[in-house]
Amino acid sequence: MPLHVYQAKEGGKSCSYCRDGFEQLEALGGAPMLRCPRCGAAVEKQWAAARVGRSESGFDDRARGAGFHKLKKTGAGEYERQY
Ligand SMILES: [Zn+2]
Repeated sequence: MPLHVYQAKEGGKSCSYCRDGFEQLEALGGAPMLRCPRCGAAVEKQWAAARVGRSESGFDDRARGAGFHKLKKTGAGEYERQY
């Protein structure tokens, strides 16, 4: 499932959970989240450009989210599953 980032529309009406944004797994075709699950403040989906595709760790996160595993070569013909 894709990982989306939601953040409160209005900082003053948010809790610590949604003020800085939170990540939400969302089924493809599912309805977008409209309110913070903790405080009920209106939230909106963020385009989390900094988290997607730029850094190696971002790629790892996406790969992991997609069900791939990163393998590290530890020796001749041997691989260690890192997660
Ligand atoms: Zn909240």
